[in-house]
Amino acid sequence: MFVNHIFARQETLPPAPAGLYEYVIGSNGIFVRASRPGLEALIWVAATNNEIRGLAQVQPFVRVYKPVPAWLVGRMFEMAFRAGDKEILFYLSPNPWRLALPEQVQSKGSVFPVDPYASGSDTMIEIHSHHNMQPYFSKTDDHDEQAGFRIFAVLGNLGHNPSIAVRAGVYGHFWGIPARWIFDLPAGVHDVNSAARAMDSNNVEIEEPEVLDVFDD
Ligand SMILES: [Zn+2]
Repeated sequence: MFVNHIFARQETLPPAPAGLYEYVIGSNGIFVRASRPGLEALIWVAATNNEIRGLAQVQPFVRVYKPVPAWLVGRMFEMAFRAGDKEILFYLSPNPWRLALPEQVQSKGSVFPVDPYASGSDTMIEIHSHHNMQPYFSKTDDHDEQAGFRIFAVLGNLGHNPSIAVRAGVYGHFWGIPARWIFDLPAGVHDVNSAARAMDSNNVEIEEPEVLDVFDD
């Protein structure tokens, strides 16, 4: 995977080059973007409090071609609940959305696939559970989720307040996002990032991008 760098001289950026990830420097900070069929993201790397003059302001976003349907999200919560106090790992691949349960080594504090290459390039979303604990991205998760361009989610508080935390990952850069950008949530599922809304890299609330229908069904 190759890397490229551009300055945002206008608000509308040139299309992201295929097969690359690209750092974008705007008046408000540094971003990284990537695209793959069905998924596009431009996320924070670092915000600046001092405007970089002469550049356009960049608005980060994550867009998926179609949200993961609520019944599929519900099925993952159900399987995670049935795994008791063990973590569980799921892969979702798109078009249409398909759920895969790789052969995995499960314990109370971790889960990993038997075959480290099990997920393959078709996987767009990786989800694991923290059973009855808080869903958040641990240091181990940061370490495990360095590769590639994907969406990551953690399920937790199963049994008392089923919750989900979602982030976009672009080659080791992460941005926590509202779950509804990616998933249709079944009733009763709490989105850890919804109350917080979208945050910039300094945890400052930012304006949410409009949901644009950029992908054909
Ligand atoms: Zn975890």
